[in-house]
Amino acid sequence: MKIALIAHDRKKDDLIQFVTAYQAILAEHELCATGTTGQRIIDETGLAVFRFQSGPLGGDQQIGAMIANNEMDMIIFFRDPLTAQPHEPDVTALIRLCDVYQIPLATNMGTAEVLLKGLQEGFIDWRLLQERRS
Ligand code: PGA
Repeated sequence: MKIALIAHDRKKDDLIQFVTAYQAILAEHELCATGTTGQRIIDETGLAVFRFQSGPLGGDQQIGAMIANNEMDMIIFFRDPLTAQPHEPDVTALIRLCDVYQIPLATNMGTAEVLLKGLQEGFIDWRLLQERRS
């Protein structure tokens, strides 16, 4: 599974805490992240992470392009709901593409935990459901 990890600045500590707690599961997957988030994950957990541009410099759009190309399976995006972001349109576009392509998206730690536990148990089969429908 290809999993993208993103956190706004005031949520980065939360994401590091989460990634550390679920490091064993995440290590079994292909990880990528926006620039600053990715560097922190690499530095603080040692996990291998492909880094896109920083979010405000286009990283969210790069991840959106991966979704549109059917190259992304899950997004964990700890947004800061209390701080205005200069790249808010990119954030909205990324979330929209998750819905267009039915990509599981967690925007907070509670949902992210459910997604990773689901992933661990192997019961995330939405791609199969999609195939059956088409
Ligand atoms: P960053 O980008 O990981 O480069 O800080 C995250 C974001 O703000 O979208």
